[in-house]
Amino acid sequence: MGNCLEIPKIGVVKAVLHRPIEGQIKTVTISKTPTDKYFASVLCEVDGDADQPKGDKIVGIDLGLKDFAIVHDGEQVTKHSNPKHLKRHEKNLARKQKKFARKVKGSNSTNKYKKLVAKVHERVLNSRQDFLHKLSRKLVDESKVIVVENLNVKGMVRNRKLSKSISDVGWGMFVNFLDYKLKAKDGQLVKIGRFFPSSKTCSSCGHVLDELTLDIREWDCPNCKTHHDRDGNAALNIRKEGIRILSNDGGNPVIAVPRRSKTNKPKGGKASVDDAGSLHCTVLSQCR
Ligand SMILES: [Zn+2]
Repeated sequence: MGNCLEIPKIGVVKAVLHRPIEGQIKTVTISKTPTDKYFASVLCEVDGDADQPKGDKIVGIDLGLKDFAIVHDGEQVTKHSNPKHLKRHEKNLARKQKKFARKVKGSNSTNKYKKLVAKVHERVLNSRQDFLHKLSRKLVDESKVIVVENLNVKGMVRNRKLSKSISDVGWGMFVNFLDYKLKAKDGQLVKIGRFFPSSKTCSSCGHVLDELTLDIREWDCPNCKTHHDRDGNAALNIRKEGIRILSNDGGNPVIAVPRRSKTNKPKGGKASVDDAGSLHCTVLSQCR
């Protein structure tokens, strides 16, 4: 693993590599951030799929605010919380943005603050992306099928009840990461319907409550008396619903295979699997 990157027409530049570059480089996209940092996104083609982990779990994920992701694999529940340093960066960002909003437009201090806010913003984005990449990699390595809720609508409903959280942005990004990583190993992402009552349904007997307010973290089913942890129960219901959808599609969920593209062309920035089974992956490299 080196610390420089050779770019056609430009030459060799110093770079911080976030992971080793493997295979044949197809395209390199250079971008510049508001804080004058340069990023190179490297698209590579790698032969074969020998390195793909064979995890074959089917997991349901409930995406929350207190914990970022609650994962149920049919036997046990695992909660993944937002990393602490991310929360610290987010608080810092909110403070700087507030200060920036009070500045008079066009003054010297506005420009200074603009850059400062952009800098903190970038740090938040970087550490969030890092967290989401690691978590999605771990889950995809262990699983064949991952079931999530359709996020757009759920996010809006939650926003009305709770103050706008930066996590909202993270959910969409996380689902994207899961999707392309699963496709690279012939796995599948299943999105379930927006009106599915994942929290209000008893995962033991199927009884649906009339209401379950957000402050209730644990409850007992009035029908079968099972005691539920709110989030674990929701994740288990999401998993069950995903399996139901897959069976209705007429396929065995475990052998469901994503569509393969007909061309060898790597698609900009996203991972795809072509006919020969080659994997195109994006390696993010950063020059400081
Ligand atoms: Zn019940």
